[in-house]
Amino acid sequence: MAEPYYDFGTWIRSRFQFRVQKLSVDAGFSCPNRDGRISTGGCTFCDNRTFNPAYCNSSKSVTEQLEDGKAFFARKYPDMKYLAYFQAYTNTYAGIDRLKSLYGEALSVDGIVGIVIGTRPDCIDDSLLDYLSDLSRETFVMVEYGIESANDETLRRINRGHTFECSRQAIEKTHERGILTGGHIILGLPGEDAGESLRQAPIISALPLDVLKIHQMQVIKGTRLAEEYARNPFHVYSVEEYLDLITKYIRLLRRDLVLERFVSQSPPELLIAPKWGLKNYEFTNLLRNRLLASADSGEV
Ligand code: SF4
Repeated sequence: MAEPYYDFGTWIRSRFQFRVQKLSVDAGFSCPNRDGRISTGGCTFCDNRTFNPAYCNSSKSVTEQLEDGKAFFARKYPDMKYLAYFQAYTNTYAGIDRLKSLYGEALSVDGIVGIVIGTRPDCIDDSLLDYLSDLSRETFVMVEYGIESANDETLRRINRGHTFECSRQAIEKTHERGILTGGHIILGLPGEDAGESLRQAPIISALPLDVLKIHQMQVIKGTRLAEEYARNPFHVYSVEEYLDLITKYIRLLRRDLVLERFVSQSPPELLIAPKWGLKNYEFTNLLRNRLLASADSGEV
C-alpha cells in the first residue's frame, strides 16, 4: 500500500537496485557543545548512550564496526548492501584529512554503498562541503543536520549553541553543492506547544532538505533536561496528543520531502518520560491510519 507521505523506504529503493540498510558507526568524534569549544554542558536533552546499537563501539575501528554490523544483518538478508551512518556526536568535528580518512575507510569496506554523516550546522565549512560534493558524484553521500527547532529562544533554552539561521545557511550551502541533505527536528521541546510546532512546519518545509526526521521530546535519565523536568515538570505529549500534532504537522510539509522517522524510543531503563510502550513501527502504523483517515474525511 502506498504511504500517505513520501516515505524513506520508497525513496531509498528508487535510488538503489538492491536492499539497503544503514549501519551506525561511532568513529570516536567529540562534540563542540560538550568539549568546551561552544559549551561543556551539551544540549539539555542529549544523552549519547541512546544513540548507538550494540554492534557500534568507538573502541573498534570503523571497518570492524561495519563488519560487525554487516554480520548482524547478513544472516537474514545475504544480498543486503549498506550505508555507513556516522551517527554518534558530531561527525564532521575534526580536520579534513582525518574526516577524509574515516569516510574513505567506511567506503572501502565491501558492501558499503554510501555514507550518511550526522552533524551540527555550525560544524561544516566550504572545503569539507566541496570535498563531499565531489564524493557525492561517485557515491551516495548525505549530510544530516540537527536543526531541532526553528525558534531561537528554544534553541537557547536547550543550550543548542547555534541559531536557526545557522541551520538554514548550512542546509542551503549543502544543497547548493548537490549533496543530499537531511534534517532532524524535535516536537515538544520545552517552551514549544503544538501551535508553535505548527507555526514552524512551513519554515522547515521551505528549507531545501531532501529528508526529514521528526521525533517527540523524550526526557532521558542523567541529562540536564531530566533535572529541569524534576524541578519543574513541563508537559510531555501522550501518544494521542503527539499523533494529533504530527498528523497536522505532516500535512503542512511539502509532498516531496522524504520523511524518514516520526518517533524515537530510547531504552526503557533510560527513559523518564513519556513512557508510551510502543515500538517505532507500531507508532508509524497508527500514524499511517490517522493520515489516511484524515485524507478520506477531506480534513485540511
Ligand atoms: S545532541 Fe548532538 S550537538 Fe547536542 S550535545 Fe549531543 S552530540 Fe552535541
